[in-house]
Amino acid sequence: MKQLYGVIGNPIGHSMSPDIHNAALKDLGLDGHYHAFQVENDNLKDAVKGIKALGMIGINVTVPHKVAIMEHLDHIDESAKVLGAVNTVRTEGDMLVGYNTDGEGFVKSLRKILDKPVQDLSILMIGAGGAARAIFTTIVRENPKRFDICNRTLEKAEQLIQSSPSFQNKQVLTIKEAEENLERYDVIIHTTSIGMYPDIDAVPISLQRAANRAIVCDIVYNPIRTALLKQAEQKGLRTLDGVGMFVEQAALSFQLWTGQEPDIDKMRAIVEAKLGGKEC
Ligand code: NAP
Repeated sequence: MKQLYGVIGNPIGHSMSPDIHNAALKDLGLDGHYHAFQVENDNLKDAVKGIKALGMIGINVTVPHKVAIMEHLDHIDESAKVLGAVNTVRTEGDMLVGYNTDGEGFVKSLRKILDKPVQDLSILMIGAGGAARAIFTTIVRENPKRFDICNRTLEKAEQLIQSSPSFQNKQVLTIKEAEENLERYDVIIHTTSIGMYPDIDAVPISLQRAANRAIVCDIVYNPIRTALLKQAEQKGLRTLDGVGMFVEQAALSFQLWTGQEPDIDKMRAIVEAKLGGKEC
């Protein structure tokens, strides 16, 4: 019988998850289908019941349900508990278990271009929302040399940085303070929605003072080459776009459901072809 997978969110119309998961299922010869479901907040509880009732293998969860879904699940894996959000649900016997693959997905994509261990990195992150929490929490487990956060709302950055009390080498900065001290950092990670379509000329920070060794990462992937990444390229800096995180977190979800490893390069090619270097 064909196995059913999916993603729930609102809005969900532009999701590229069905494209990459259906391609991976086909590629690996698995008899399954992955569908995007638009779910209103008021229907979330019933939608979760539907996962069990329909015998689905699992789902992805996206905005705005990543936190709200937790109370409707039977068990939360440590990966999601520490982040306070779920992006993947797997049916395990008669239980629905919540996981989070966002932070690990980002770190896997970052590792591909790093030339030194995380322990030797001074990192600046711009933003303190859900994706930032996943990235911060995952990276500080590896004890980087330093991890600072700047954000429009300083209280949110403060809350996030205090959420890992055992990690000491950290500081909250205003965007201006971060700009003035940018030469400190080996890796600059942008996690806000600034620069996302349709506001494609917006940049969250000036890279004028970035060190030549810096790697500039943007988790926004629509457009793939954001204005921030273009600014980094003009300075001759190495860059990491948001497609890497998107396909790596998807691949980790796919592995949780099927036990098989999808072809990351093919997933990436599908996203690139769909965005076509343009915005949608
Ligand atoms: P979120 O929880 O709503 O957090 C939004 C963040 O952006 C906050 O730090 C917020 O600052 C900041 N922000 C929003 N508008 C701003 C503005 N006009 N000026 C300055 N700061 C602004 O969102 P999220 O779920 O973390 O997602 C953030 C972005 O990451 C989105 O573009 C999303 O598409 C992308 N993302 C990509 C992936 C991937 O796989 N590549 C995965 C997840 C998310 P305040 O605290 O001041 O409000």
